[in-house]
Amino acid sequence: MSPPLFEARDVRVAYGKVEAVRGVLLTVPAGRVVTVLGANGAGKTTLLNALMGILPARGSIRFEGRDLARLPVEERVAVGLSLIPERRELFGSMSVEDNLRLGAFRFRGRGGGGDLDAMFALFPRLKERRRQLAGTLSGGERQMLAMARALMGRPRLLMLDEPSLGLAPLVVAEVMRKVAHLRDEGVAALLVEQNARAALQVADYGYVLDGGAVVLEGPSAALRADERVVETYLGVL
Ligand code: ATP
Repeated sequence: MSPPLFEARDVRVAYGKVEAVRGVLLTVPAGRVVTVLGANGAGKTTLLNALMGILPARGSIRFEGRDLARLPVEERVAVGLSLIPERRELFGSMSVEDNLRLGAFRFRGRGGGGDLDAMFALFPRLKERRRQLAGTLSGGERQMLAMARALMGRPRLLMLDEPSLGLAPLVVAEVMRKVAHLRDEGVAALLVEQNARAALQVADYGYVLDGGAVVLEGPSAALRADERVVETYLGVL
C-alpha cells in the first residue's frame, strides 16, 4: 500500500516547560480536505507551525513516506507544503499582481506567467484588482490573495490557519468553496478552524484538538452528528 500524502505521528511541541501540542497523530490522504478543529488556545497554530518547520517539534512528519521532521521550512515548501498563516502576511504596499508573482519565487523566473492567468481565472476578483495595493483589499479579498499566492508555489498540500477569521458568512462560504474546488483539482488541504460548521461542510475528515491533544476524530458527517462536537463547537443547531 502506498503511504498517505501526509502523516504526522506523535508530534510534540513545548514552549519552555509547557507542552502546547501533545502527541498528535494525523493523516491527510491525497486529494482530501482534513480539518483540525479547536477552541482558542487548543494548539492549532502551534501544530501547523510545527508541521511546516517554523517551530521545532518532536515526532515524525512524513510526506509520501519521506521524513520531513528535520528539514527546514524551505525544503518542506520544495516537497509541496504551503502554509497560509492566520494573519495572511501579504505585502500591503505591493500590488495584488506583485504579491502573486512573489508566490512563485521558488521557480526563480521560470514559469509564473501561466500560473498568474490560472489564478486570475480561479479568483476573478483578484484580476479586477490586480494593480490595487494588497493593503487596501477587503478581508475576504486578502484571504483569496493569500490562497492564490500560496498556489503560485504549486503546493500539493495547502495548510490554512483559520481562513474564516474575521470574514462575513457569505465570504467564509466562498473561501470554503475554493478549498473544495482545489481538492477537486488535486490539491489536498489541512484546514485549521474554529468555525467547525464551515470546516465540516468542506472537509472529508476531522480532528478535534483540546489542550494540545486530539480528543476526537472521524469522518465529517460523523463529527457533525456527534453530540460533543455539536455542543462544544457548533452550538444549538
Ligand atoms: P487560537 O485559535 O487562539 O489561535 P490556537 O489553537 O491556535 O489558538 P496556539 O496559538 O497554538 O492555539 O496556542 C496553544 C497554547 O500555547 C496556548 O496556551 C498559548 O498560550 C501557548 N503559546 C502559543 N504561543 C506561545 C509562545 N510563543 N510562547 C509560549 N506559549 C505560547
